[in-house]
Amino acid sequence: MPVLAVVGRPNVGKSALVNRILGRREAVVEDTPGVTRDRVAYKAEWNTRHFTLVDTGGWEPDAKGINASVAAQAEIAIDLCDAVLFVVDANVGATATDEHVVRMLRKAKKPVYLIANKVDDSRQEPLIAELWSLGLGEPYPVSALHGRGIADLLDMVITKLPLVSAVAKQEVGGPRRVAILGRPNVGKSSLLNKAAGEERVVVNELAGTTRDPVDEQVDIGGKIWRFVDTAGIRRRVHLQQGADFYATLRTSAALEKAEVAVVMIDVSQPISEQDVRIIDLVLESGRALVLAFNKWDLLDDDRRRYLEREIEQDLAHVSWAPRVNISATTGRHLEKLAPALERALESWDTRIPTGKFNALLAELTAAHPHPVRGGKQPRVLFGTQSSTRPPTFVLFTTGFLDPGYRRYITRRLREIYGFDGTPINVNMRVRE
Ligand code: GDP
Repeated sequence: MPVLAVVGRPNVGKSALVNRILGRREAVVEDTPGVTRDRVAYKAEWNTRHFTLVDTGGWEPDAKGINASVAAQAEIAIDLCDAVLFVVDANVGATATDEHVVRMLRKAKKPVYLIANKVDDSRQEPLIAELWSLGLGEPYPVSALHGRGIADLLDMVITKLPLVSAVAKQEVGGPRRVAILGRPNVGKSSLLNKAAGEERVVVNELAGTTRDPVDEQVDIGGKIWRFVDTAGIRRRVHLQQGADFYATLRTSAALEKAEVAVVMIDVSQPISEQDVRIIDLVLESGRALVLAFNKWDLLDDDRRRYLEREIEQDLAHVSWAPRVNISATTGRHLEKLAPALERALESWDTRIPTGKFNALLAELTAAHPHPVRGGKQPRVLFGTQSSTRPPTFVLFTTGFLDPGYRRYITRRLREIYGFDGTPINVNMRVRE
């Protein structure tokens, strides 16, 4: 899916614009400045065209941090998005921060649309004349709050978005796309260097920007893989505020480009909330998942026992993910990464024929019928796998199934088919 990012200074109305595009009725998201919001990437649709909307608006630092955070937004937009909506406040005009960001955005050869927000009525339109000076071409006057100009804007932007994300475009049979994720200092760049250094970096410059490579193709296990957003791993951004939000933004945008994620966990530290949050972002994105427990060389027996307990407690919900215990610096067990990735992707791609799936459903429901609820017993009439990547199933039923019953079916599906390394969805349609 193509990715559209909304970028701009604090208070120009980014979140209002995002809400408007998503068609959400709620008022502007009320976040305290600098507070982390977990969701930054949204599935959006306009005139039957689907795209991902990346909202950088959860990141509103104080005046001192503005330049750094807006520059970092621009950097993510440049590396990971297909087009940018650059929002300014028409009543304020172009500020020095705006000009700085525009210089960054220009370097990326990606479409940038200049959105003049807060033009609430036509009498304000003359205000936008001044914005031509930013050199981004015609400013589009809108009022995110009142909806004015939004439909015209989207009509125009949508026709110019690529059908498939240019950054994620994959030739048939081309290398599969891997995101290396994890909190700061878990060893992402060490892993990348080891993999890219000892094996062979095949192609460096892929995204066609004038800056660092965004993706790199790396040979591991005799096969070429495409590591996405390696620019984000190699480049280190030092932010005083909002570092968590930056990391979330980068992780979400990288996941859009990836098919499988390697989430790295530092075994020398307790498993943290942030580790779990990154894993949850992968689950939400529906990408395949491999867990890499890094710095294994630092593990002693005591810590090891703790670690196993922590994994049972905090990572039980992803016990299906292939696990590799590695050391990015010594190279320990790095050869196990490729087979784990292969396995996860194979599960992610799996399709179960409808006949087989229904035979299984018949067996499961006979062995363990749904409990009677209010004098009625919901039955599963029929099921089918509606999609792969990740495997998604639909059950047609005569009534609402208990969550516990859906879990039973999901669990049995995993026991029978494995699905190592992929989330699976079991949905339900009730037929009256
Ligand atoms: P990133 O922030 O996730 O990219 O983490 P880095 O790759 O920069 O690693 C952070 C620190 O951990 C560096 O000092 C690395 O040398 C160290 N490190 C990374 N992997 C390992 C490992 O497997 N074992 C040990 N002992 N140190 C490691």
